[in-house]
Amino acid sequence: MQTAYTKEELRAALAPVRGKRIVLVPTMGALHEGHASLLRQARELAGDEGCVAASVFLNPVQFDNAGDLAAYPQTPEADLQVCRDCGVDVVFMPTPDVMYCSDRSVTMEETHLSTVLCGARRPGHFAGVCLVVSKLFNLVQPTDAIFGKKDYQQLAILRRMVRDLDIPVTLHGAEIVRDVDGLALSSRNVRLSPEHRAAAPAIRRALVAAAAAYAEGAPVQAVCEDVLSILSAIDGVTVDYVELVDAENLHPVTDEARPALLAVAAYFGEVRLIDNIELSRTI
Ligand code: AMP
Repeated sequence: MQTAYTKEELRAALAPVRGKRIVLVPTMGALHEGHASLLRQARELAGDEGCVAASVFLNPVQFDNAGDLAAYPQTPEADLQVCRDCGVDVVFMPTPDVMYCSDRSVTMEETHLSTVLCGARRPGHFAGVCLVVSKLFNLVQPTDAIFGKKDYQQLAILRRMVRDLDIPVTLHGAEIVRDVDGLALSSRNVRLSPEHRAAAPAIRRALVAAAAAYAEGAPVQAVCEDVLSILSAIDGVTVDYVELVDAENLHPVTDEARPALLAVAAYFGEVRLIDNIELSRTI
C-alpha cells in the first residue's frame, strides 16, 4: 500500500493504474467497521487488476460548527492499518493546506436536495462536501466511488452532482453497518457519554417500528410523531429533525406509492447522531 501526502505523490501513485478500474472511498478518518465495509466492497469491485484508493481527510470546509471540527477524532496510524487490512492500494492523506489554496474562491453548490434535512440545519455543509468530493474526483479520476447510505442525503446530492455535471464516475451506495445493538457506526460515537451510548440504540428501534407502521398504512405525520416522542423522552436528547420524505428527491412525500425515507438527526448531549431507514407502503 502506498500513502500519498501531496497531490504530486497521489498522481505518481496512480500513474501505473490509469486506464484500469479505480475505485475511490472518501473518508474523514477515525475509521471504523462501517468504513472498512466500504473499503472491502471497493476491493471486490476493483478486483485483482484494479486499484482501490481511499482518502482520509478531515475536510474543514464541510463543518458548520467549529467545536464539532475540533472534537472530531483523528487516528491516522490506525486508519492506515485499517486500509492495509482491507486491501487498499493507495491512501491519500492530505492536510488542509495541501488540499486548498488559501485564496480559493470557487464553490460547488447543489441547490435542491441540499435545502432539506441536514442541509437545512447545517448551512454550507453540503457545499463543502460537494467541493471536496469534486476535487477528489478530479485528483483521483476514479471509475467508481462508494459512499455509505448512513449519509443518505450526501449520497443523493453527490448522485445529482455527478449527473448534472457529467462527471465520468459511477457511484455506489453501501448499506449501513451497525453495532450489535443497532446503533449505526459513526466516528462520533466515541464522544458519547456511557449513558447516551446505552440509550442511542433507541434510534434504530424507533425507526424499525416506524417502518412497520408505515408499511401497514400509518399516516406520515403519526409515524414521525411516534419517533419524535420516543427520542425526546430520553434524558439529554434534543431532536434536530424527524422527517419522512421521498427517497429520491428528499422532499415531502407527495406520492405514497414511491419509496420513502425516514431520516432522523438528534443531539445526544453535544453529539449529533444521524440515522435513516428506507420505507415503502408494502414491505
Ligand atoms: P465519513 O468518514 O463520516 O465522512 O464517512 C466516510 C464514508 O463512510 C461515507 O460515505 C459514509 O456514509 C460512510 N459510512 C460512515 N459510517 C458508516 C456506516 N456505519 N455504515 C456504512 N457506511 C458508513
